[in-house]
Amino acid sequence: MKYISTRGGAAPQAFSDILLGGLAPDGGLYLPESYPQVSAAELAEWRELPYHALALRILQKYIDDIPACDLKTLADRTYTAQTYRHCRPGRDAADITPLTTLEPGFHLLELSNGPTLAFKDMAMQLLGNLFEYVLAKRGETINILGATSGDTGSAAEYAMRGKKGVRVFMLSPDGKMSAFQRAQMYSLPDENITNIAIRGMFDDCQDIVKAVSNDAAFKARYKIGAVNSINWARVLAQIVYYFKGYFAATKSNDEQVAFCVPSGNFGNICAGHIARMMGLPVARLVLATNENDVLDEFFRCGVYRPRGTADTYVTSSPSMDISKASNFERFIFDLVGRDPAVVRELWNKVDAGGSFDLNGTPFMARLPEFRFASGRSTHADRIATIRAVWNTYRLMIDTHTADAVKVAREHMLAGVPMVVLETAQPVKFAETIQEALGCDPVRPKELEGIEALPQRVEVMDADAAAVKALIAARC
Ligand SMILES: *Cc1c(COP(=O)(O)O)cnc(C)c1O
Repeated sequence: MKYISTRGGAAPQAFSDILLGGLAPDGGLYLPESYPQVSAAELAEWRELPYHALALRILQKYIDDIPACDLKTLADRTYTAQTYRHCRPGRDAADITPLTTLEPGFHLLELSNGPTLAFKDMAMQLLGNLFEYVLAKRGETINILGATSGDTGSAAEYAMRGKKGVRVFMLSPDGKMSAFQRAQMYSLPDENITNIAIRGMFDDCQDIVKAVSNDAAFKARYKIGAVNSINWARVLAQIVYYFKGYFAATKSNDEQVAFCVPSGNFGNICAGHIARMMGLPVARLVLATNENDVLDEFFRCGVYRPRGTADTYVTSSPSMDISKASNFERFIFDLVGRDPAVVRELWNKVDAGGSFDLNGTPFMARLPEFRFASGRSTHADRIATIRAVWNTYRLMIDTHTADAVKVAREHMLAGVPMVVLETAQPVKFAETIQEALGCDPVRPKELEGIEALPQRVEVMDADAAAVKALIAARC
């Protein structure tokens, strides 16, 4: 299996060669040359498998340059009940992604039982083990430089902590994250993790990452890498839980399901799209946004109109506060029949700060084949949904999951079970839970009091040269 760029200007690459990088050299995103298909016999066998074995079956279809026995070790080590132990009382942690039924035909798939209580652990944990394996094979090291406003940074740090050959430099806006989020990241004692709090906003952090990455000489000398959401292996790891969710919500492979996914950068739902392309019986993929509704607008109107950062709302589902969806190009590549010339033309407009409109093109007529539906949710909707779910089922959900529950209700198909992906635990967004329910969310026992642990963080001005000097000094 080789990987190609959505913009057609890069030589096909092996999996291990694209694992450590981000964008393709032509500015596109990597995708497999074709989507491997799952036969009826395979689907029947897979239904009975535990998560780590299911993950191995799917990884094997996409990775042919890591020996099967090594891949098995990596999958076994990544998806353990111990790592995903923060599940609701009464659920089996060995399921990794337990399914909770709210009412017949309406389910939550718990994806946030990993170390940082957000679904980003599902992919990042695999990435950590893959990085360590490939770097050891090649005798190389990598310095991961990232910017975070919360969820991504902590998931990356917990996945990379103690990994040989990997150092992490994570920039976060000083004083802008919650006390819980700060404690999660800054209290990690591992030598290979460096937290840098920048006097500024998230955008300042991101600008520094861009400035450092644009310095080709520095980037090569210090082997600067990224773990952002466009990394193919992150999308790949997420395909697995769509299969797991399908098996958990159905009794036979003759049935169909619908998924509803709270979306920001289009990474999570892109994995759902690929699962469907592989042959998983998915009747509908429902995309939910918050007030930042770039993607909802596309699926309703055929217009993709990224916003400026100044026009991006700060909401109570902050991990979906995006102005443009970095993984969306992967879906458009499939929608336009995998023609890189069309993608190049469309993204020439996007990269220049513009938008595109597919109305009147043959692609618009093809959109329904991909089975998407979409909707948006507001702060008032989140509050009402968190309350309703608590009052009806005595179940606490986080703000992102609430966006998806609200939108899922609007897109039910008769006789088709709906699986809502639960992407974070409510404890991460305690302020909004207080507003909705007038009480504090419960927190997993071992995370009680983490705010009191000693913290390690370098506070710096928003200055790329100073960040470079720090990286150089640590390497
Ligand atoms: C990152 C994130 C999302 C959005 O996922 P995408 O893959 O960017 O679409 C939704 N919910 C939570 C809690 C997240 O951390």
